[in-house]
Amino acid sequence: MADVKKIAVIAGDGIGPEVVEEAIKVMKKTEELYGLSFEFEHGLFGGIAIDEKGTPLPDETLEICKRSDAVLLGAVGGPKWDSNPKELRPETGLLGIRKALGLFSNIRPATIFDCLKEASTLKPEVLEGTDLIVVRELTGGIYFGEKFRREGEHGEEAVDTCVYNAVEVERIVRQAFEIAQKRRKKLASVDKANVLETSRLWREVVNRIAPEYPDVELEHVLVDNCAMQLLRRPSSFDVIVTENMFGDILSDEAAMLTGSIGMLSSASLGEGAFGLYEPVHGSAPDIAGQGIANPIATILSVALMYRLTFGYEEAAASIEEAVKAVLDAGHRTGDIAVDKSQAIGTTAMGDLIVAAMK
Ligand code: NAD
Repeated sequence: MADVKKIAVIAGDGIGPEVVEEAIKVMKKTEELYGLSFEFEHGLFGGIAIDEKGTPLPDETLEICKRSDAVLLGAVGGPKWDSNPKELRPETGLLGIRKALGLFSNIRPATIFDCLKEASTLKPEVLEGTDLIVVRELTGGIYFGEKFRREGEHGEEAVDTCVYNAVEVERIVRQAFEIAQKRRKKLASVDKANVLETSRLWREVVNRIAPEYPDVELEHVLVDNCAMQLLRRPSSFDVIVTENMFGDILSDEAAMLTGSIGMLSSASLGEGAFGLYEPVHGSAPDIAGQGIANPIATILSVALMYRLTFGYEEAAASIEEAVKAVLDAGHRTGDIAVDKSQAIGTTAMGDLIVAAMK
């Protein structure tokens, strides 16, 4: 019997609770199949926490997260809270939780399922074999630099500053090298070193630590070139590591290679093995409560948790293979179905994946 791992479950709003329920079913099945053991502790977060506790991120929820080994998050937000003041908005809770838990990187895989190639806007032959991860720095760079307005020679001016220190660069680049070591051992470091000083520091740090990872093949790619190559030769990438703003844009571009938002998992990591795992999609208020949401993004987030936080490689692979088998057998939720009349619901999709696990 494996030691008991504590999982903080923060289902949130809209379809969050619906998709998280299916992910927990999958986790329970891996307990049976692989002798794993989890203790789930639920916390309020987002809109529901605003309604019940008067804040999007109650202290007790944060405490639950801090005493856990990993966090499983659904999604937050909805029209009910859209016009609230900033401190009473669900999204403020998202920024707060990442900061409070020291999560400085965001990891997003983009994997093509052969049977869903048609859902992408790219040609199937370009997508063939695409399986990449974007590692984005989350707490530094231009989004967090000093911002101000001033009176310039031609009137009003706005200034955003981009600052990175070597420590911030090193910790995320090391994380990316380590992820690459567990995959196909290729790392693309993306910057704009021909123009930006922060990028020149970024590249220096990458080159300084690269010799410590001799088994990983490193390439430096300028961000504009990377944007092009993601569309031209996506399958040649394994792990991409980049700063905050470039990562924001490139991870959305990479996500769209796969065609459906209901399929995309993500992780936010800090120092050590602890991580927060969530689907890339939001709370989908337009379909909430109807039992038709696609739970696959959240289920694949569990596979990511097993791999990145716990090292449960076999169980992770079993989840991914079950998802693939169910899709190969033709089962689809509404968002990925060509013939919508054949679409199955959230619970049915979860049940099929559980049944397909070996
Ligand atoms: P969304 O991702 O919730 O929905 C976009 C579209 O994709 C909708 O048509 C929705 O029905 C569909 N969709 C999303 N997930 C799906 C799934 N699993 N299965 C089937 N269809 C799915 O984005 P949005 O509409 O821009 O935002 C809705 C709310 O979610 C907002 O309040 C927003 O702030 C919030 N949001 C939260 C997060 C988060 O919790 N991390 C992320 C993005 C948006």
